[in-house]
Amino acid sequence: MKCSLCKTGETHPGKTTVTLERDGSVIVIRDVPAEICEDCGEYFLDEVTTRRVFMTAEQACSRHVEVEIQRYAA
Ligand SMILES: [Zn+2]
Repeated sequence: MKCSLCKTGETHPGKTTVTLERDGSVIVIRDVPAEICEDCGEYFLDEVTTRRVFMTAEQACSRHVEVEIQRYAA
């Protein structure tokens, strides 16, 4: 698909690292499947992946971790 950020690049399926910050907790999730723009490097997650990433972040937050690094579990 066409990148909706830079409007010039094409996106390709790949993997990215998502970093989320919430209530003083930093959650890093590796190997998240995403469409990645060849031009600007922006990534786009589909709905299911987004939901799962946020759920993972919520769980880490509820444990009051300061920094947590996880691998995306498909
Ligand atoms: Zn782009």
